[in-house]
Amino acid sequence: MSQWSAIADIAEKVQKGELKAENLVAQALKTIEDNQDFSAVIATIEDRAKERAIEIDNRVERNEAVGRLAGVPFIAKDNFLTFGSETTAASNILKGFEAPYQSTAIQRLEAEGAICVAKANLDAFAHGSSTENSDFMTTKNPHDKTKVPGGSSGGSAASVILDMAPFALGTDTGGSIRLPAAFCGAVGYKPTYGLVSRSGVVAMASSTDVIGPLTRTVEDAAVVLDVIAAKDALDGTTIEPEGDGYALSPELSALSSKKIGVIKEYMSDGIDVKVKAQIEAAITKLKDAGAEIVEVSLPSLPLALACYYIICPAEVSSNLSRYDGQRYGFSHPEAKNLDDSYNLTRSEGFGTEAKRRIMIGTYVLSSGYYDAYYKKAQQVRTKLIDEFNKTFETVDFLLGPTAPMTAFEIGKHANDPLEMYLTDIMTVAVNLVGVPAISIPAGKIDNMPVGLQLIAPQHKDRDLLGLASQVERIIA
Ligand code: GLN
Repeated sequence: MSQWSAIADIAEKVQKGELKAENLVAQALKTIEDNQDFSAVIATIEDRAKERAIEIDNRVERNEAVGRLAGVPFIAKDNFLTFGSETTAASNILKGFEAPYQSTAIQRLEAEGAICVAKANLDAFAHGSSTENSDFMTTKNPHDKTKVPGGSSGGSAASVILDMAPFALGTDTGGSIRLPAAFCGAVGYKPTYGLVSRSGVVAMASSTDVIGPLTRTVEDAAVVLDVIAAKDALDGTTIEPEGDGYALSPELSALSSKKIGVIKEYMSDGIDVKVKAQIEAAITKLKDAGAEIVEVSLPSLPLALACYYIICPAEVSSNLSRYDGQRYGFSHPEAKNLDDSYNLTRSEGFGTEAKRRIMIGTYVLSSGYYDAYYKKAQQVRTKLIDEFNKTFETVDFLLGPTAPMTAFEIGKHANDPLEMYLTDIMTVAVNLVGVPAISIPAGKIDNMPVGLQLIAPQHKDRDLLGLASQVERIIA
């Protein structure tokens, strides 16, 4: 049992003066402190969080409006620019960097009274699937300390399951919200590309980066999305949210009128037999509850991972070029001139994975290889988009596992990047195509959680959350 009730209930009690924001913040900070050995949190935002809590409590006393998330503590992945702490993206090159402004998502949450209490650990610059690529520490899985929490939002997922806060924010470029949600037993929501502003979030691959919540329930995910989804002048790729918003409502619950396609490729390629059985058991429960379920095939899916690992590093190599020792965080103290400063700062400041991606990205974008790699990958991406569009002419939603396995041992793939990349085999296509997807808990195998993934067409986030909340109830 969690110490936190539903987000909407907490906010309502704060609004009525039945709960004090100050106590909620203290409770979150204590739980963070008590669970330090999981290394889920890089920094706490104590002073600012306490000040904001007192301000909210005072406003309640004066009968002033305090917002839909009044007093609700949350934790942000440390690639969100926030006041009150450094923003490092878990990279040495950003150590000492204090953001001059806050990300739009954080601002929107604060405007509704939510309180950021800490910054969560991640794979540096969100490159990874296990948080082992953090330059600072490896987060441990809340269910088994010898296992990874998934990544790259591993600290966010672990913090929610360790009960440090009612929700956390993550980013998902190729699966980084859904995968750790699956490994830790949380709900992880990846919105339609552009639904949440990327302004003030450290960029990884700008054409696939999205921001979303990690929560314990679908209802909580919907409440948070409803606040952060908005068109934003600071991010030209943002889209207008759906008119009715994202909070769950009863009219979304007609499961029997929806057709769900089980992705054949995800149920066959290299999937752990126990994970497969667990997903099949969930499918049976859904059928028994009246869902119409068919098998669908998207033949280009096996190409998605290779395609992603060309496009993603290409964009990473460009996005990381701004960390040159002159503008953000770390600047090498022994540099004798500007060139020297670039070289020394980047050589020492970036970890192995960031360097690997800079090299791969620069290579696939170079004039001699652009056509052979980058252009080909973009063609495959277009093909994937076509296949998803066609498939969504015949079914309303897609279903499959979030990952082919449950959380693995810390160190198992740490020295084998290709094995690590395979962890993402069931999540990356969604990012390339820009559609929304959610991972919800589907039971456990040997005490380790399994994630079930549901995918909808672009701009159908509201329907997806409605479906997910029913599926959550049925398979629980
Ligand atoms: N694990 C994937 C990668 O390493 C996805 C990362 C992410 O979504 N941020 O690229």
